[in-house]
This record gives sequence, structure tokens and C-alpha cells, in this order.
Amino acid sequence: MTTMLEVKDLSVSFDVFGGEVQAIRNVSFDVKHGEAVAIVGESGSGKSVTAQTVMRLIAMPPGRVKNGEILFEGQDLLKLSEKDMQKIRGNKIGMIFQDPMTSLNPTMPVGKQISEGLVKHQGMSKSEAKERAVEMLKLVGIPTPEARYKQYPHEFSGGMRQRVMIAIALACNPSLLIADEPTTALDVTIQAQILRLMKRLQEQLGTSIILITHDLGIVADVCDRVMVMYAGQIVESGTTEEIFANPSHPYTRGLLNSLPKLSQRKDEPLVPIYGTPPDLIAPPKGCGFCDRCSFAMNICRTTHPEVTELGGSHQVRCWLQDPRAGQAAEQREVHA
Ligand code: SF4
Repeated sequence: MTTMLEVKDLSVSFDVFGGEVQAIRNVSFDVKHGEAVAIVGESGSGKSVTAQTVMRLIAMPPGRVKNGEILFEGQDLLKLSEKDMQKIRGNKIGMIFQDPMTSLNPTMPVGKQISEGLVKHQGMSKSEAKERAVEMLKLVGIPTPEARYKQYPHEFSGGMRQRVMIAIALACNPSLLIADEPTTALDVTIQAQILRLMKRLQEQLGTSIILITHDLGIVADVCDRVMVMYAGQIVESGTTEEIFANPSHPYTRGLLNSLPKLSQRKDEPLVPIYGTPPDLIAPPKGCGFCDRCSFAMNICRTTHPEVTELGGSHQVRCWLQDPRAGQAAEQREVHA
């Protein structure tokens, strides 16, 4: 598989009243053609900022790209003019947002919201665009698409609205689809339907997907690779099998342990990750997860962990896995 998107050493900050929030720091990853990649992490980990920087949707100021490159099909998106970026946004890269009710225009029939991108980006006539919009509604599983074309967002259920968002994002046949928490606002049954739909469309249309989520549980069926973000950095990455079979960063293990299990008794509580993420105005000198980690060692507080290769494509940023930390491991401190 060839590389479609390559993010290299990207750092984005926000200049706010209290100082510089270092939202993402030296993030690098790639997405291959036809591949589905998940970015997983809790709120404030930098996953949405990463996606919005790729789409150039960050307001600047207060946002600021400090360094890095975003190469999409060989072009650095950060160097494009806004006019050139508009030709890529919605056309070559589609995006689905978390809450379809706030993303859809409540005053416009949904069909028109699908067809307007086709007229703008693909130069279709209004009737061609309408035909394609009806086709898209059918493709995403909306019954009686001709009648639904004329209806407004409030006439759709939450799951159906998210299907419309997928139809809008895929109408121009983009090579990359970024889905930012696409199922968070939906109940679990509809969530599963939407994820299955995205997977089917990815296989059918060959679209690459970046799925952003805080829920590691939903990526197993949909994604080929997983990147776990914490405090603005990728702390673990690998194929879905590598991450689920051998989670190596204590934060990834914490995310997996916090998921409910089928074998779990009703009176058995879920295991949370205690504590809160660090202040990104003054990120810790050592590991960002230090204050919440039950395996923290002295070296974790003083020295930032480098990336360790664990074989295959599995990488982790943790002193526990770093061969140089053998002696330091003896200094292990266990936190309550
Ligand atoms: Fe825990 Fe240290 Fe690994 Fe950070 S580097 S996750 S504090 S063991």
C-alpha cells in the first residue's frame, strides 16, 4: 500500500491568556491508501486538533503551527493558499463531525446539503448533483431516498442524520475521510450500525479513514492500525492486533481495562484511570502520564521517554519498554 497522508513532526500551540497551550507536540504518522487508522485518546489529548490541523480548520490566531509538514498526495497542505485548500477540503478529504445536529444546516433540505458540494467541487449540473445525492442517500442506507432528499435535518433521527453526514462527506468520492467521534452522540445499537456502514463504504469505495475516538473498544472491528494519543503526543502505535494483543503503554492498558467486559458481574465496578491529564501550558519535563501511572520510576519524572520499537510496526513511548531503563526500573515507585 502506498502512503496517502504523511504528518511529520507536527506541533500546534494555542496562544491564550494564561500562556502557550502546547496542544500537539512532534506528532508523526502516516495513512496508506485504503487503510483505516484510529487515533484514540481522552478529551484534550490532541486527537481532534491533529485532525483539524490536517483539514486546516484551526483558527489562527489563537492557533499556531510551530513546526511540521502535512503531506497529502505529495503536497504540503500547510503551504497551500486558502483557495487551494478549499479545493481539497470536502472534495479530496471529507470530514464527519461528532454531532450531526450542529453540523447540518437546519434551514436547508438534506439533499441540497449533499448536492451543493457536488456542484461546487465536481462542476455537476443541479440535476446531475441531485441524482448523485439521491444515490448517496441510498448508499448510506436511508429508505425512500427521493422523498428524504427534500426533508430537513429535524425530520431525521440521530442515526439517520449521521448517515446524511457520511453521505455529504463521501459524495465527492474523497480519497481520505476523517471521522471525528462520529458515533459519540448515538446510542450503542446505532453506533454499531454507523461503524459497520463506514467499514462497508471503505471497502466498497477504497477510501482511507482516520477514525478519532476516545473509545478503544470501537476500533477493533473497523481499523487496521491504532495510534494512542496522550497529552499531545502519540504514546503507542501499531496494528490493531499488536495493540490489542500486547498493549505496552500503561495508558493504553488503562484504556483497555476501563472497557466493560462480557464476563463482568453487575456488582463489579469498572476500572477507571485515576487523575487528570497534565497542564499543557507547562507540560511535564518527563513522561506526561507520570502522575497517573502506577509503574512510574524516577527517570519518568526527569527525562522524556523516547520512542521504542517493539517489532513489526509496534512503537511505544515509555521507559518501561526502553532497554536503557533496565537499572532505573529498580527504582520503581508504586503510587496509590
Ligand atoms: Fe509510566 Fe514511566 Fe512509562 Fe510514563 S514512562 S507511562 S510514567 S512507566
